[in-house]
Amino acid sequence: MQAMKPALPDIQTMVRELVRHPSVSSVQPDLDMPNTAVCELLGAWLEDLGFSVRIDPVPGHAGKTNLVATLGRGDDGLVLSGHADTVPWDEHRWDTDPFAGTVRDGRLYGLGATDMKAFFAAACHAASRFRAGQFRRPLVILATADEESGMSGARALADAGDRLGACAVIGEPTGLAPVTLHKGILMEAIRLVGRSGHSSDPALGRSALEGMLEVADELGRFREDLQARWPSPAFDVPYPTLNLGRIAGGDNPNRICGECELLIDVRLVPGMTVAETRRELRARVRDRLGGSGLELQFRPLFEGVDPMRDTSGTAHAERCCRLSGAGTGAVAFGTEAPFFQTLGMDTLVMGPGDIRLAHQPNEFVELDEVSRCADLLERLIHEYCLAP
Ligand SMILES: [Zn+2]
Repeated sequence: MQAMKPALPDIQTMVRELVRHPSVSSVQPDLDMPNTAVCELLGAWLEDLGFSVRIDPVPGHAGKTNLVATLGRGDDGLVLSGHADTVPWDEHRWDTDPFAGTVRDGRLYGLGATDMKAFFAAACHAASRFRAGQFRRPLVILATADEESGMSGARALADAGDRLGACAVIGEPTGLAPVTLHKGILMEAIRLVGRSGHSSDPALGRSALEGMLEVADELGRFREDLQARWPSPAFDVPYPTLNLGRIAGGDNPNRICGECELLIDVRLVPGMTVAETRRELRARVRDRLGGSGLELQFRPLFEGVDPMRDTSGTAHAERCCRLSGAGTGAVAFGTEAPFFQTLGMDTLVMGPGDIRLAHQPNEFVELDEVSRCADLLERLIHEYCLAP
């Protein structure tokens, strides 16, 4: 006689349990937490469903893990992926305990409910309808670390270089519509060091502030060039952007400014890369300041994320459109998709919830929509993993 399989909790219970395991990631060390408890919770559910489960530490990031759970065999599987972490929360702006998973009027409230713990509950529920013996291609459920704070989990997977499957769905909140491209992000600090001196005689110093005005002018020209070169009509803002976000320097009106720093943010469109854009940006600023006598320093504010290459024409995208009843679209937020694309996985983004509720107090997910997501994933698994 076969042993009884333990029953998987229902979808609402799973979302609530995931919310009850805090997994904040933050670039501020005092707010940052491990994500291991979420991976272990998912791992236990998936082991009960017959998955083989790996929980891998992320090198160089203590307490951070990626979960890779596989049902079936082969390297041409379907990967359902999400990040196990959340952003920090504003203590006093929530109407409920952000870690309670309160349910009211069909909505489950909690930190990470929509971004993106609900997707894991939908994926586990969909997976519970299958047994490995039915599969011609495997199903992989992946949970990553630190998506909200630099993407160390996805970077570690990309560095390891193992393709985890042939096709991937990242379940970020898109209202269950397939998203096939997004912009990339580059953030850079530009610092100028000159020489301070008495304001009455410019020859006594070398103004970093005046040098930075030249830099700002050059960045404006660079932006115009980028926008002319890279029109991208799929986006609401249909071109790359470059924002001068913060400038700081000098102290007194009667002193020549000795040091000045500018922080900028560039949003890249598909076709551009972080590495090439950074190289060009630095070269233009360096050329512009040539002969000024100012010392020039560049510092990436984080490693950056490449744009997601458009995958709207693929069979994977066509299947997801047909099953979801929605057309493909673009979003303004970044995801781990570019890392999956470098691993050779045909990737798109599609999950329950609304990105406008993410990173906000009183974040919630509609439980009906999570159930619809589970149904959608079940049909996707059926077509992808069982078909000859
Ligand atoms: Zn997210």
